[in-house]
Amino acid sequence: MVEIRDLHKSFGQLEVLKGIDFTVDRGQVICVIGPSGSGKSTLLRCVNTLETPTRGTVVVEGIELTDPDVDINAARRRVGMVFQQFNLFPHLCVLDNVAIAQRRVLKRSKAEAEKIAQANLERVGLSDKVRSYPAQLSGGQQQRAAIARALAMEPTLMLFDEPTSALDPELVGDVLSVMRQLADEGMTMLVVTHEMAFARDVADRVVFMDQGVIVEEGPAEQVIGDPQEERTRVFLRRVL
Ligand code: ADP
Ligand code: MG
Repeated sequence: MVEIRDLHKSFGQLEVLKGIDFTVDRGQVICVIGPSGSGKSTLLRCVNTLETPTRGTVVVEGIELTDPDVDINAARRRVGMVFQQFNLFPHLCVLDNVAIAQRRVLKRSKAEAEKIAQANLERVGLSDKVRSYPAQLSGGQQQRAAIARALAMEPTLMLFDEPTSALDPELVGDVLSVMRQLADEGMTMLVVTHEMAFARDVADRVVFMDQGVIVEEGPAEQVIGDPQEERTRVFLRRVL
């Protein structure tokens, strides 16, 4: 589903990704953990073509995103992304927030886009909030609306960048349970998170990044439960 080879990314003199290699198989959930500034968001942004790699290749479903001849919009549509900040349009109700990209990008009719929006809002437990505006929702509800918006585009891969980091602690669980449900349904997911319990339960593999490289990766039980590298141990001691 995703194949990343020798991925490098620099901003000016600053080399943020220093040769990242890994693959994600269909239906797998990979959790990426690591200290702030280690390049996790930049990695996701390269998979979503929000950033152009300095060197290396990113292949999503057989489409090489780094190939200048590739239809980047077609490739981008297959990848849904959920950010720490929910980025909902404040002047649109939840239903319209979930429908608008479908109409603009996929050219769905209003009726069809709304029907698919309804179905996905139900999927994340928000069917009673379709006419609410973002400001009328809790952070957890806003984040679930953002997840529904991404799902309505029918992505084959979902990227999550610290989706619960901006939430009050009591709202984190609702968002994680929606993500858990998606994982159970077989969605392929690449998740940057500090929620170690979630990573332990849900991830097929955990990747620990520090200073632009993958320091350690493997099953959650191994990387979180029995880390082999000192840098991983130091990080886990701080977050657990
Ligand atoms: P993480 O998500 O692990 O906290 P990031 O990928 O956001 O790390 O950032 C890694 C490093 O890259 C940081 O030092 C950050 O300041 C830098 N960086 C990220 N985006 C840019 C940018 N657009 N321009 C310059 N530096 C950036
Ligand atoms: Mg980040």
